[in-house]
Amino acid sequence: KFISFEGIDGAGKSTHIGFVTDFIRARGVQLVSTREPGGTPLGEKIRELFLHEKMHLETETLLVFASRREHLAQVIEPALARGDWVLTDRFTDASFAYQGAGRGLDRAKLETLAHWVHADLEPDLTFLFDVPLEVARARLDATRELDKFEREQEDFFHATRNEYLRRAAEAPHRFRVIDSTRSIAEIQQELAGILDGLV
Ligand code: C5P
Repeated sequence: KFISFEGIDGAGKSTHIGFVTDFIRARGVQLVSTREPGGTPLGEKIRELFLHEKMHLETETLLVFASRREHLAQVIEPALARGDWVLTDRFTDASFAYQGAGRGLDRAKLETLAHWVHADLEPDLTFLFDVPLEVARARLDATRELDKFEREQEDFFHATRNEYLRRAAEAPHRFRVIDSTRSIAEIQQELAGILDGLV
């Protein structure tokens, strides 16, 4: 199984990935837990460039897909071929949300890149951790310095969140939208229920 985790910054994605990883491992399933941009030595170098250098939006998008291509070749495809599960912190939905809706790259270009880089492979399951903007903001402010992306405008966050929700509505067989305004314990209970049906 190939599972991705998505959500705007401050939605609590990282906290819950740890829980899901432990839950599945405890059932004796071999799994690889990874992330994007990154996930390979080359991908991590790309991530550094992506996070810290100013660049044209199309350059940024191509870098994210280059990182993804390497990630698929080195990590995701071999793991799935061995029968391991793969859990990834972000995948292509993030490009539609951030580079597409957030920063304005034409959706058709993203479709082309997605088709090029992984025509035959989609996550079997995508957890979308969803919170209203104000909640995400409050959490980020409370916990740490905002990074360059998190400082972007409110409408950026709205557009990103709405694109995630739009994609989830378009592919309900793949997405599980998790209401992340609730307590960690309540969310974990829901996650456990979903995973019980899988493992
Ligand atoms: O997933 P993570 O929070 O580690 O991502 C690091 C930063 O990169 C975040 O601020 C996120 O908003 C941004 N990002 C992005 N486009 C992507 C993936 C992540 O702008 N495709």
